[in-house]
Amino acid sequence: MSLFITVEIADAVQSDEALKKQLVEVCPVDIFALDGPRLTAVENNLDECTLCRLCLDAAGDKVAVIKLYDGNARLE
Ligand code: SF4
Repeated sequence: MSLFITVEIADAVQSDEALKKQLVEVCPVDIFALDGPRLTAVENNLDECTLCRLCLDAAGDKVAVIKLYDGNARLE
C-alpha cells in the first residue's frame, strides 16, 4: 500500500487508447500499466513517483497525483 502518493485515473481515460499508451510511456517509474484494456496505477510503484508532472502534461485533469503526505494535496 502506498504511503506517500496515490494516483487517480478518471474514467474518461479508459476510452482513449492513445492517452493510455502515452501514460504508460511517459512515467519514468512505471506507475501506469495496462491490465488488459484497462489503465491502472501500479500500487507497488506509487511511492517511486518523482512528481515530474509528465502524466499531468499528457492527461491534464484526467489524472490526479495526490500527495498523501501533504494533506491529500493534488500535484499541480
Ligand atoms: S508525476 Fe511523474 S513519476 Fe509521478 S505518476 Fe506522474 S509521470 Fe509518474
